[in-house]
Amino acid sequence: MGTWGPGQTESMHESLRLGRVRGIDVGINWSVLVIGWLLAWALADGEFPALAPGYGDVTYWLVAVVAVVFFFGSLLAHEVAHSLVAQRAGVRVVRITLWLFGGVSQFETEAQTPETELRIAVAGPATSLLAALVFGLVAVGIDRVGGSALGVAVAGWLSVVSVVLAVFNLAPAAPLDGGRVLHALVWRSSGDTAHATKVATDWGRRFAYLLIALGVLVLAAGYLDGLWFAFLGWFLLTAARAESTQALLHGALAHLAARDVMTPNPIVAPDTAAVATLIKDWFLVRHCSVFPLADQSGTISGLLSLRQVRRVPTHERDHVLGRAVAVPRAQIVTAAPDDPLPSVLEHMGHASGSEGRTLVFNGDQLVGIISPSDIQRALDLAALRNLPAGPDRS
Ligand SMILES: [Zn+2]
Repeated sequence: MGTWGPGQTESMHESLRLGRVRGIDVGINWSVLVIGWLLAWALADGEFPALAPGYGDVTYWLVAVVAVVFFFGSLLAHEVAHSLVAQRAGVRVVRITLWLFGGVSQFETEAQTPETELRIAVAGPATSLLAALVFGLVAVGIDRVGGSALGVAVAGWLSVVSVVLAVFNLAPAAPLDGGRVLHALVWRSSGDTAHATKVATDWGRRFAYLLIALGVLVLAAGYLDGLWFAFLGWFLLTAARAESTQALLHGALAHLAARDVMTPNPIVAPDTAAVATLIKDWFLVRHCSVFPLADQSGTISGLLSLRQVRRVPTHERDHVLGRAVAVPRAQIVTAAPDDPLPSVLEHMGHASGSEGRTLVFNGDQLVGIISPSDIQRALDLAALRNLPAGPDRS
């Protein structure tokens, strides 16, 4: 299976790096080694002896390992195709990871037009079909020249699996490729990407439930393979849900600017004060957990949080200055009042050293501060205004 998109789950990042293709990190998740081994076992012990009887165990195992390597290679080709088409269309691709259920390409930006999205989505399955054709021709070729039956079996198996991969991925269910195709088509005809996301993720959920139900039926019939379908369905369900939530949040905040959510005119503390003074006269009496610090000319020089002052040992608080432990100005995330909120959020997400805060400047003048609770409040208000029944949890 192959999926692609901006948001991915954390578990995929634990991977073994294979290398780089045009600036894109390519890695393999540890789960792939387990899956590869299970697959090789199934092929060496069942599939290949049935298709081409009469060889030794070692031969079956060697050939099975080669087949699995080619299989993962074709999965990788599928993902690389998505990524290269995306890159050519100006989408930033961060990494490709092979993991439990196939490949995942992680993009930092999204397709700008439905046509681009369509091309990126179709590139993967098209590559799988091409691989199927090549493997199929190899199988026919080996057969024609009277080559080994095992060679025909391996190439034939790879060809069939590649077709299955392409067809499965074309199911019109986000986050599968077919779901992206559906999204692009609805987007093109309606001009509304939020509506397109709803349609594609709704189908994604239906498809996932179908897979889970199928898995349970197969399990009930006594085949352990059902577990695989159920797992896959559960994974798709999680991914489809995450995507629709993300789209809702994005939609709710998209029309806001930094000035709409910031807490205006934050209280500023002097950067020449000692930590003890700052605790006594600022943190304890004014209900803030973060203060911008200003030098004597009034220029903002740092950002001091409760977390940082608590790290200063009690006996040192009288002579350590606030500015010595504060986030220096250069590391503070800043925004202009009219900056769109999604881009502000993106910056906040990437910066770790700014205590989760963004300072809003109008020219040189500090006019506001944005904290995670400001974002939360904006989300809650957006939910009140736009979604009468609360956030979509269906
Ligand atoms: Zn794909």
